Amino acid sequence: VKIVPGILSAEPVLLAPERARRPHAFSGAVADRTDVACPFCPGNEDLTPPSSVEVRKNGAWTARAFPNKYPASQWHEVIVDGPDHNATFDRLNDPRAVLRLYANRYGALMAGGASYVCLFKNHGAMAGASIAHPHSQALGVPFLPPRIRREAQTFRAAASCPLCAAISPHQSRGLVIAETASFVWLAPESSTMAHEQWLVPRRHQHEISALNDEEVHDLAVLLGRSSVRMSEISSSFNWLFMNFPQEPAGHFYVDLFPRRTSVAGFELATGTFIEVIEPLETARAFREGFPGHDR
Ligand SMILES: [Zn+2]
Ligand SMILES: [Zn+2]
Repeated sequence: VKIVPGILSAEPVLLAPERARRPHAFSGAVADRTDVACPFCPGNEDLTPPSSVEVRKNGAWTARAFPNKYPASQWHEVIVDGPDHNATFDRLNDPRAVLRLYANRYGALMAGGASYVCLFKNHGAMAGASIAHPHSQALGVPFLPPRIRREAQTFRAAASCPLCAAISPHQSRGLVIAETASFVWLAPESSTMAHEQWLVPRRHQHEISALNDEEVHDLAVLLGRSSVRMSEISSSFNWLFMNFPQEPAGHFYVDLFPRRTSVAGFELATGTFIEVIEPLETARAFREGFPGHDR
């Protein structure tokens, strides 16, 4: 893997040609194929590199992390959410174990020398997943990526935390989907992706590693509820864990959105997004369900 500086953008690019050798790298997910063995199912562990960490119960793993076979950097791991090939996040036996693995691998890869570790989930072909079995990734890079740098700068420059301050106006404008004792699930007013939502811990903290047991519990529940709703309108979604290492002014949050369209020319040309769904509509749909989906 090589880091190539942008000629004009000055933003680094990860050049990882070995990733083109992934099965179906350019043909979408292996999602519906039954003729190939799933490398993430129990019994097929020899198809992946050995685990870096496993959560075990009754002699079997319930979640595991291992180095990516086709890494995009020297700090690239896969986190398999559970043994069940078809279990969605809300159906996992131990979703908290997955979040603890997130925090564990984030800490380990940061300690291993990465400047930033991105924790994210690609679910479904439209979201970039090439394997259907529920999994997440931890991908470290030797620089602070542009979005993280921009947002960290916003937090640092503000007199008080803009995310702490955003909660109450979102409540009063009907943009909150649900609240727990420790988390607020909202449709951000500045949504850039259709049906985007944020999960914001009430307690100001800048990294996943600072979440306490109650927060991990509440986050797991809300991730499950969001993924159920998102699956009502799309088979694909992403969630992104926004950490701000070494920036205590930063406020950790999770950014989630279903994928129904790909990012298009204008967005790629300008970095400006056209949002076509009212955040108020998103908040209502995630509270009440999407039409035609009574749950
Ligand atoms: Zn599987
Ligand atoms: Zn804050």
